[in-house]
Order: sequence, then structure tokens, then C-alpha cells
Amino acid sequence: MTTQVRHYIDGEFVLGEGSKQIAVTNPANNEIIAVVNAATESEVLTAIESAKKAFVTWKEIPVSERARVMLRYQHLLKEHHDEIATILAKETGKTFDDAKGDVWRGIEVAEHACNIASLLMGETVENVARSIDTYSYTQPLGVCAGITPFNFPAMIPLWMFPLAIACGNTFILKPSEQDPMTPQRLVELFEEAGAPKGVLQMVHGDKVAVDVLLDHKDVKAISFVGSVAVGQYIYKTGTDNLKRVQAFAGAKNHCVIMPDANKQQVINNLVGASVGAAGQRCMAISVAIFVGEAKEWIPEVKEALAKVKPGLWDDKDAAYGPVISPQAKERVLSLIAQGKAEGANCVLDGSEFTVEGYESGNWVGPTVFTDVTTDMTIYKEEIFGPVLCCMTADSLDDAIEVVNNSPYGNGTSIFTASGAAARKYQHHIDVGQVGINVPIPVPLPFFSFTGWKGSFYGDQHAYGKQAVRFYTETKTITARWFDSDIASGPNMTIALK
Ligand code: NAD
Repeated sequence: MTTQVRHYIDGEFVLGEGSKQIAVTNPANNEIIAVVNAATESEVLTAIESAKKAFVTWKEIPVSERARVMLRYQHLLKEHHDEIATILAKETGKTFDDAKGDVWRGIEVAEHACNIASLLMGETVENVARSIDTYSYTQPLGVCAGITPFNFPAMIPLWMFPLAIACGNTFILKPSEQDPMTPQRLVELFEEAGAPKGVLQMVHGDKVAVDVLLDHKDVKAISFVGSVAVGQYIYKTGTDNLKRVQAFAGAKNHCVIMPDANKQQVINNLVGASVGAAGQRCMAISVAIFVGEAKEWIPEVKEALAKVKPGLWDDKDAAYGPVISPQAKERVLSLIAQGKAEGANCVLDGSEFTVEGYESGNWVGPTVFTDVTTDMTIYKEEIFGPVLCCMTADSLDDAIEVVNNSPYGNGTSIFTASGAAARKYQHHIDVGQVGINVPIPVPLPFFSFTGWKGSFYGDQHAYGKQAVRFYTETKTITARWFDSDIASGPNMTIALK
């Protein structure tokens, strides 16, 4: 029997009437493993109404009690780590180890949310004028919503709702319709952690559900992660509707390799960062720029990638799994074909790769292009597949110029033994997250995830202190308490006296 994925509306797990039915498939063979009824407009409206009602009481719950819900939640997530990773691996095709990593990077944010009282602390100054004190509080906004992508179905929802809720908000999650079973388990465990009815809601579906959240006056803030086109739409529509919006979008991440770097470290790191998770990470390295003599290493990088074998999620020898859908595979293959047609040299071609017995799956083997130039489509487009584009540059300055001319700015890395080169790179590069001899610099939750340029629309970033600012409003209070009758007369100026 096919599993039915459920919404979580007004404290109940429900199948919903559905504006249409969406199939969830195993990317290794495209068999249907579950179905979900995409939420109707009225179902989303019910969720908003319930979240609005729940806010009235949830915001009054003492901060340490809210933190205790998060303490129980992070504990439950750890207890169920392998179980969640198995669900995730089955619906995304990720290898079990990679699926565990996806869950773990989310658990870390839930752990950080346990520290919410310190994160919410305001500021105080005594005696800003005679007998007058000023202090500030951070207060929650109300109903917040999150719209998440397919590629991290545990980590990215967990970037959002634990912190938003710990701040005192209520939250509506609209996960990717391509892998909704992992978020469903996350939400079930949140209920088990003791969150009161209505504090968290989950509606599945597509644009229909998203548009209701974007238009509704009672949704105060929207957090989005996904592709550039949808991110721009959500940012423009949400801000036009006077909401607070943060939209994390697509990427094209460059790795600059200096000739003084440790060659073996470069090769190992490039292999994992370019084709790991089938290249479906927003922090994947998709462009490698070899500076000067480092270009001699390209054949060895290709050889190392040629040894990488994709496979099933529970195959311990598999380095990565299939891409998410036949449409995603089609897109990657057409970009590979375009790369060849536009004159890039395809030295390793994964277009024909398949896994025996799973020929109908969305497999793409590791693919390497050399002689890539910035006018080619494979350079300009986010491929989101296991494809590495190799370029060369005469100097670090030339490499920096290429990276800074890219419209994206999610992440970048430099591999070098020179502190001076690394310092120059970190200072001059127009990218929000920089790795030095580290390929995928996704910051831990006490920092924030700080993509720049076309990879992010908004001001406050994900998790860490910036997310607390995003999900709260600051109230500043200036107070004087009289301990005797003071008859100094009215103050006719703006100065505090
Ligand atoms: P997507 O944009 O197709 O979908 C993301 C979410 O938006 C889903 O929940 C989807 O249902 C919804 N959506 C899709 N089309 C919509 C529309 N027309 N109107 C309203 N909502 C719509 O992205 P995806 O394919 O699920 O995820 C991959 C993309 O996400 C890549 O571009 C990747 O770089 C990006 N990503 C970025 C980050 C980051 O931090 N910058 C992190 C992860 C993924």
C-alpha cells in the first residue's frame, strides 16, 4: 500500500482534500513510494488561522519553558537520527552517511535553539538622562512561514522552525513536495517534544499553498530556500505585501587552487565537494580554477573522479546517489550536451551512467569539463548535478576577478599554503562564505549562513544571531520612576532631561 503523507494543521495530522495529488518517488527507480494531497487554499487558511490563535498563548510561555521544548526536541531528533536518515535516504536517494549528515546539520540548529534566552537578550543603559534608564526587548513577530527545497529535507526546515518558535512565534512549514516524508517525521517528533497545538503547522503542496502564505496579511515573515527564479518571485511578492522576507537562492561556487597547495588534499576535497550528493548541494564546488602550474593537476582530478561510483542509498560503497527526478536528470544531461556543443572539453562523461537493475533511475555519473570559459552555458547556469567545470588562470588576481564577476555569491574556497594568498582572497572576494583549505564552508549554528549577491535576497541570514533578529522585533523602553515630587515644569525639547 502506498504511504499517504499528512499535513499538520491545527494540531492534527490530516490527509487533506487536496487540490491535486503529488507522487513521491524513489529516485533510484522512479517507483512511487508515497503520495501527498497538495494543500488547498482553504487548508492553508485554516493553518494560518490556527497559528494566529496559538501565537496569543505561545508568546506568553516563559522563555525557559520554550527552551525546554527545544531541549526535548533535539534529544528526540538524536534518538531518531538513523530512522530519519533512512526515510530521507529513501526519498532523496542520498547515501545513508550523507543522509545522516543532512539530519545532523539540522540537529545542531535545534541544539542552538535551546540557548534561546541568551540569544533573545536585549540591551540596557542606566541613566541615559537623570534618573532615566533605557532598555530593549526582543519580541516575536507572530505567524512566520518557511518554504524549503528538496535537497536538504531535514537540515533546511530545521534551520527555520526551531529558532522561529523558540523566539515565541508560531510557524507554518511548506516543505518541498519532492521529499515531504522527512519533514513529516520532523514535525511528528516536534509534537512529541510537547509543543502546544497550533504552534507548528505543516502544509504540503506547491505554488497554490505558497501563494496563500505570500498574500495573507497575518503571515508576518517568510523564509525561503530554493532556486533563483522562485527566490526572486517570493522576495518580490512577499516584500510587496509588506512582509519580512529572507530568500536563499541558487549558487555557482568556485574553488581556487594555488600551485603551492597540497595536491592530494585538493584532489580529495574537490572530489567530495563537486559530486557529493550528486552535486545537489547549494555549497557544492561546481567550478575549479587552477592557477598557474596547478593546471598540471587536472588530469589527476579527472582520474580521481572517474573512480567515484554512484549507487543505492544502502550500498556502503556508493559515493553518491541519483539526482532527485527524471526532470532534474534531463536538465543535467541537456547542460552537459550544451557544454560539448559550445566547445568545452568533456574529459569525463557521466551521461550514460547507470546502475545494474536500476536502469530507470535518475543516474548521472561524475562528469568533468576542461577549457571552460565564462561565456559558456555550463559556466553560467547552476547545473545542480555531478559536474565539475575546470578553468585556468594565470594569477590569483585573475582568479579573483572571475569569481567576483559571477552573479552568485554563496560560497567559495581557496587551497593554498600561503597565508598571504589566503588573506588576500578572503578580503577581496565578493562571496559570503569562504573556505581556506576547506571545500564546503557551511558555518555552524552559532554563526549564520551568509550567502551574498544573487544567492540571497534579504538582510538577515539563516540561523545564529541573524535569524533571531529576523524572527523578532526590537522594542526599546525609556523609563523614569519618580521617588519624590519633582516640579521642574514641562520639557519643551526633544532632549531627555
Ligand atoms: P525550487 O525553487 O524549485 O523549490 C523550492 C520551494 O519552492 C519548494 O517548496 C517548492 O514547492 C516551491 N516552489 C517551486 N516553484 C514555485 C513557484 N512557482 N511559486 C511558489 N513556490 C514554488 O528549488 P528546489 O529545486 O527544491 O531546490 C534546489 C535549489 O535550491 C537550487 O537552486 C539550490 O541552489 C537552492 N538551494 C539554495 C540554498 C542556499 O542556502 N542558498 C540551500 C539549498 C538549496
